[in-house]
Amino acid sequence: MFTDDTYMTGQKTDIRTLNLKELEQVVSGYNQPAFRAKQVFEWIWKKGINNFEGMTNIPDQLRKNLSEKFIFLTLDEINRAESTDGTIKLLFSLHDDKKTECVLIPSEDRVTACISSQTGCNLGCKFCSTAGIKKARDLSAGEIFEQFIASDNLSVAKFGRPLSNLVLMGMGEPLLNYENVMNAVEKIISPTGLNFSPQRITLSTAGITAGIRKLADDDVKFNLAISLHAANEKIRQGLMPVTNSNTIEDLKKAIIYFHKKTGTRVTYEYLMLKDINDSAVHASEFAEFCKITPCKINLIEYNPGDFDVFKSSAPETIIRFSEILKSKNLIVNIRKSRGKDISAACGQLANKC
Ligand code: SF4
Repeated sequence: MFTDDTYMTGQKTDIRTLNLKELEQVVSGYNQPAFRAKQVFEWIWKKGINNFEGMTNIPDQLRKNLSEKFIFLTLDEINRAESTDGTIKLLFSLHDDKKTECVLIPSEDRVTACISSQTGCNLGCKFCSTAGIKKARDLSAGEIFEQFIASDNLSVAKFGRPLSNLVLMGMGEPLLNYENVMNAVEKIISPTGLNFSPQRITLSTAGITAGIRKLADDDVKFNLAISLHAANEKIRQGLMPVTNSNTIEDLKKAIIYFHKKTGTRVTYEYLMLKDINDSAVHASEFAEFCKITPCKINLIEYNPGDFDVFKSSAPETIIRFSEILKSKNLIVNIRKSRGKDISAACGQLANKC
């Protein structure tokens, strides 16, 4: 059974750290049949409930027993900011007073939630506001899952439709919290959980090569995005220190491995930074990089954050850059930033609603 005291409070353990087998053991310890464990499991992961009182088909005594030993370490929404473009940012306080954020992005045909995997981040990407907040800890599977539930409920309340897409692109590097992220995603996509389509989920990594290989070995069905931002080793090292231990050559090999095993076309995220990575030479280097496997490219305009040494490339530069890539038969989208006025755009999550 899970004993990490990060996910305990007082003497109580977060019930969402238990798998079904462990839950069955607990329930049988109270002389209750195994189907009761299944019912509790369903309340937690299929109906997304985060308290014992709401488990209405569970006998009172069992609910009392469970609540004496277990707890739900829930998210407490402490702030909400709404952008003029409809984007909503939620700031959550966690049971140990740490903070995390998620963002809801509506568009004509979809509502996307961008959720976090850690509190802060230690990877230190130079263009990212989150990098200014040291990682305090990994989020538990329950905390990651609950961001989805909170976003989904808000999506229905605000936009009259449930979430259509999920991206793991908020605070933190998901592949450095592999087990909890995969556990949460499994509950989101499983028929015994929320039954959300994996094709509508994208996990974004700064390029943790061991994690990409692990995803391939686990034969994941969701999409993978790589925050590339430069196909040139030196420039990427300058922007993303993670490149020092995950070189571009290693990254290429990991992506090839991932594609071979899963058949999935990866997406490259590329922030357009004025005079840093936006020249014709950089575009050619990027096109060369893209030859390794089928891919898609998102060119993203930069959002000035707290450490504003960078500027976004001019619109005409972004178009020129995309034309060079398209001339090499690559699929390119230019992404407009959403939620800039509430610091909810890419790279702006810094716990300040
Ligand atoms: S861009 Fe992502 S990986 Fe890099 S510092 Fe920000 S949150 Fe961490």
